[in-house]
Amino acid sequence: MGDCIFCKIANGQIPSNTVYEDDMFRVILDISPANKGHMLVLPKEHADNLFEISEDTFGKGFILAKKMAEALKKAVECEGVNILQNNGLEAGQTVNHLHIHVIPRIKGDKVVIKSESVSVSEDEFKTICDNIKNNL
Ligand code: AMP
Ligand code: ZN
Repeated sequence: MGDCIFCKIANGQIPSNTVYEDDMFRVILDISPANKGHMLVLPKEHADNLFEISEDTFGKGFILAKKMAEALKKAVECEGVNILQNNGLEAGQTVNHLHIHVIPRIKGDKVVIKSESVSVSEDEFKTICDNIKNNL
């Protein structure tokens, strides 16, 4: 576990606003929410990111995120919900213990999830497709 803050929160050594807990996961309110009701699904077992976590835990985490989103939609006024998950510094991950964000979205809110598209040639599309297929 070392110094991982989310290990300590997930396993109850540091208090949190817990909305759900079972033997594999704890779901907490994000301390710096993008909107009211922003939750984090934390596996109790440490994995830095999706490249380290088992398929079973990752899959169950997303099933739980869906359950939390359904409760959230009834609990707070929101028109939409983002489920997202960052892996690596470049992807915006700031805490190196895998977590799934469940973010309520309200018309006119200040959440920005946006990118400009890069241009890709037909040849590049084909090469990228082949490279990914060959690595499955
Ligand atoms: P990410 O950028 O995907 O790594 O997200 C990390 C999230 O963890 C951010 O939304 C933070 O606000 C949240 N966070 C960091 N420390 C805590 C904490 N002690 N309790 C609850 N949420 C936290
Ligand atoms: Zn951890």
